[in-house]
Amino acid sequence: MKITVREAAEMSSGRLLCGNADSWITSIVTDSREACPGSLFVPIRGEKTDAHIYIPAVFAAGAAASFTQEETAVPPDSSALIAVPDTTAALQRLAAAYRRRYTGPVVGITGSVGKTTTKEMVALALSARYHVMKTQGNQNSQVGVPLTMFQLNADTETAVVEMGMSQFGEMARLARIAAPQFAVMTNIGISHIENLHTQENIMREKLHITDGFTPQSVLVLNGDDKMLATLRGKLPFHTEFVGTSPWCSYRAVQVESQNGCMHFSMQHDGKSLPVTIPVLGMHQVTNALAALAIADILHVSLPDAAAELAKYQPLAMRQQIHEAGGMTVIDDSYNASPDAMRGALDVLCSFPHRRVAVLADMLELGDASCRAHQDCGRHAAQAGVDVLVTIGKEAAAIAEGAHEVNSSLPCTVCSSNQEAGAYLRKLLKPGDTILVKGSRGMHVDEIVSGILAFA
Ligand code: ATP
Ligand code: MG
Repeated sequence: MKITVREAAEMSSGRLLCGNADSWITSIVTDSREACPGSLFVPIRGEKTDAHIYIPAVFAAGAAASFTQEETAVPPDSSALIAVPDTTAALQRLAAAYRRRYTGPVVGITGSVGKTTTKEMVALALSARYHVMKTQGNQNSQVGVPLTMFQLNADTETAVVEMGMSQFGEMARLARIAAPQFAVMTNIGISHIENLHTQENIMREKLHITDGFTPQSVLVLNGDDKMLATLRGKLPFHTEFVGTSPWCSYRAVQVESQNGCMHFSMQHDGKSLPVTIPVLGMHQVTNALAALAIADILHVSLPDAAAELAKYQPLAMRQQIHEAGGMTVIDDSYNASPDAMRGALDVLCSFPHRRVAVLADMLELGDASCRAHQDCGRHAAQAGVDVLVTIGKEAAAIAEGAHEVNSSLPCTVCSSNQEAGAYLRKLLKPGDTILVKGSRGMHVDEIVSGILAFA
């Protein structure tokens, strides 16, 4: 599915200022350091830097073309320059046009938490039958989704695309670009509530993932999510609910955790399917059910899809379990939000004593922050955490919440990773299970490496 410079200009509604219109574009990059012969460079103007300054560097690296919002500096011997009013919008337009050359199914994945995990599980389940293109890592943004579209190629039989949003209008735009005919919504939490104000708004915005649905389309929803369950019977297209409630069409029963795995039986259409996934937590069971539902909808045999899911490996820093010095460290340092915290605390408390929770700030919660942290503390105490260590200003409220439920729970409030690291070094002993979790900006992966170094 290669395109020429001329086609790129047409597809992005840009104007070719100079350069060879017939040269081929073989990659699209927003990072100038990734430019190579055949690249189309998309310089994005950010708050701190304007990537237009790298245009000479990408041309020196052999890039075939670059978008530009500035028409002034056209070097005489440059590669192709395509003038556009807004480089991000041009990238999105180009990606939408490119995506429409692909005729196979696209599955969009959204939700407040669990998108990347579910995207990986859906892609794995579909790989039992198809050649799958999936979002690399976490590229779910207004730039990441368009870039993902360029990975569609002649071999792609199905595509699984992670779609995130933090502002009004963003999901509608992503839906125009990726045009999924199938979608999964994992849950409605409170991530980005400072921009979107209410959970109802969050749900309404996320539902824009279905904007391009056709009569054959299906939306898979987590029936165990309170908000999503209210959509039952209310949507004008085919929906399937996954979860543990009796009315869910893909339902998990006899759920057990054993040796780091979840085992359950999936009931669907009067049949039972035994499923094992090598990760812990009820939330992973619903993620796996969503993957099985999509596989079934896209005609993958369910036993084959389940056999693939049994090979699932957690991504780095997302509930990755390390054994060191007789301790079990649950590395969940990739990110944190209230729902993910609750799920992770339940996983911690499925381990025997002593359960140590090392919890840092959940960022970007706006006015809801203090309450969300206190709720998290209450949940920690109720779930059976034995020792609590908090890191950061916001996280101090976790200790307050925990003390409301259990005033004798040992809680240590730290202001930095360094302070917490030094404390943990004295505290931890063989037999302990330690959960480490916090927002990405808190860098609690440092805590995990610290523990693994001294264990
Ligand atoms: P981001 O917004 O950063 O893209 P995401 O939605 O892709 O996040 P993941 O990276 O899959 O989410 O998971 C983030 C954290 O939430 C991990 O700790 C993971 O174990 C946990 N998690 C995964 N699925 C769920 C779920 N359905 N409910 C709650 N927590 C979950
Ligand atoms: Mg993600």
